Amino acid sequence: MKRILDDLLWIKGEDEFIPDSHMYVIGDIKGDDITLVDAGLIGKGSYKMGILERLGVKAHQIRRIIMTHCHLDHIGCLPELKRMIPQMEVWVHELEAVELEAGDERTVYGMELFKTMAQAQFRLKDGIFKIEVHRKLKDGDLLSLGSSNWSVLHLPGHSKGSIGLYEEGSKVLVSGDTLYSDYAIGRFDLYGADSGQLKASLRRLAPMEIHVLLPAHNRPMEVVPQGYVQDVLRQWEAYL
Ligand SMILES: [Zn+2]
Ligand SMILES: [Zn+2]
Repeated sequence: MKRILDDLLWIKGEDEFIPDSHMYVIGDIKGDDITLVDAGLIGKGSYKMGILERLGVKAHQIRRIIMTHCHLDHIGCLPELKRMIPQMEVWVHELEAVELEAGDERTVYGMELFKTMAQAQFRLKDGIFKIEVHRKLKDGDLLSLGSSNWSVLHLPGHSKGSIGLYEEGSKVLVSGDTLYSDYAIGRFDLYGADSGQLKASLRRLAPMEIHVLLPAHNRPMEVVPQGYVQDVLRQWEAYL
C-alpha cells in the first residue's frame, strides 16, 4: 500500500502467472464514502481487503467499485469482493455494463484460448461474471467521490468500454490498461480491442495536463514529465 495523495491509496497488484491489477482507493478511509477502482485477479479479494482492514477500513465504509474495464485481471475477484462488501455498487462503462448484465463474458476473457486455460486453472464456470451494474458510465460523466471530483473519459482501444478517471484539481489520471508508465500502452489484440481507437484515445490524452499517472499495472508515476503522452504516442503511432 502506498498513499499517493491524501485521499488516494495504491494497493499493488500481486501478479501470478496472470497479472493482478492494482487497486486504487479514493476517499477518506475514516469516512463512509470510499470508492475502489478495479478489483483484481481471481482469488485476490482477501489480499486486497486484508490490506484495507489493516488500515482500519470496514466493509460498510465502501460505497462503490468502478471498473476501468472488465478483463479477468481486473474483474476476477469482484464476485469475491461483493460477498465481503454486499452493499457495494458496481460502476462500469455502459458498453461493458451491457455485457456483464447479459452474462456475455467475451470481454472478461478476451479470447477463447485464454478462457479455456483460465477456467481450467481457476475452476471457473460459465456465467460467474454475470453481474448487476448499478451505474452505467458514459464519457463526460462527473463523479463526486468523497471529497474529490472526477471526470469519466471513455478511452476505447484496449477494450471497448475502457475508461480513464481524471481529477482536474490535482491533475491525476487513473488510466486503467490504456496507458502505463515506462512508455508502455495496453495490448490491442483481444476481443473488442481496436488499435485505431487506442491511437485516438492516446491522442485525446496527449494535450491533457497530467501530473500523476495511475495505471492498473506496473508502477504509478507520481511525477509525470511534461509531454509524456506525446512521447508515448511518438513511439507507438506507427504500430497502431
Ligand atoms: Zn485489460
Ligand atoms: Zn489489466
